[in-house]
Amino acid sequence: MKKILNKEMAMPYLGDPKRTIEVLKKYEFVFQKRFGQNFLIDSHVLAKILKAADIGENDFVLEIGPGIGTLTQHLAAAAGKVTAVEIDPALIPVLEDTLQDFPNAEVVHSDILKMDLKKLAEEKSQGRPMKVVANLPYYITTPILMELLEKKIPIDSITVMVQKEVAKRMCVGPGSKDYGALSLAVQYYAEPSIIASVPPNCFMPRPKVGSSVIQLKIYEKPPVAVQDVHLMFQLIRASFNQRRKTLANGLLNYEGLSFQKEEIQQALEECGFAPNVRGESLRLEEFARLADAFARQLE
Ligand code: SAM
Repeated sequence: MKKILNKEMAMPYLGDPKRTIEVLKKYEFVFQKRFGQNFLIDSHVLAKILKAADIGENDFVLEIGPGIGTLTQHLAAAAGKVTAVEIDPALIPVLEDTLQDFPNAEVVHSDILKMDLKKLAEEKSQGRPMKVVANLPYYITTPILMELLEKKIPIDSITVMVQKEVAKRMCVGPGSKDYGALSLAVQYYAEPSIIASVPPNCFMPRPKVGSSVIQLKIYEKPPVAVQDVHLMFQLIRASFNQRRKTLANGLLNYEGLSFQKEEIQQALEECGFAPNVRGESLRLEEFARLADAFARQLE
């Protein structure tokens, strides 16, 4: 009951340039480039993120990099509980202030890349899949997304702001120059969709690149069946490691794999692929078939 009363009283107020400047001035905050700090100052973009994330009062939300707490306030107003992990010590007193009316928002001062997120999800979310929402610091986009996807952490969806180019890479298939290991990894674990395109003037300071909000809806079961997922991702990495080479040469030269030329030829033939096929032309389902062909050789 107490929590509901508090939630009714607490109204998000951050989300425009004026309020952001007020907070920054009050704390004489100095932006740290190395932490990828570009704070969101556009209420329309915030509304789009919140609508897509579809947060309800039973949800546990993990926010990565709350900054001064703009998105955090909005998340806390909708969610049951929010844990926001922030690396910059200078932002901790700011967040204590801006989140004081949101008792269901907890700030953890830590580097998200060093945390055991599976344990965090188990402790905070009581077994329910959590929702991850963030305006990500761009320098950690790939490592943090791979950690969230690969570690079998119970997650319902990931709704994040990323660099526009990276969002594109996550969504495309064969035939696009942006198609690569990240596309396949994301598409094995989740269904990606681009929610919004966000220009630099929606942030303070303005980033040099365009941004997109992307949502990854995590599959309960991956869309393709494969005997050895690790082997499939090794094949994927090997084939995109040397994009200009044929898949056969890519696999032969890849350090992590030790298949002989004849074994590679046999696997390609079994899958009905031409000997000079390139990895960039194969779909996820085709990589899965290839991994199964190699797995059979290892049996
Ligand atoms: N959410 C805020 C907003 O939208 O205005 C800030 C977003 S800003 C792009 C990224 C935030 O992530 C910054 O507050 C930065 O200090 C924080 N950050 C950077 N690296 C981090 C890390 N490894 N772990 C946790 N937070 C990090």
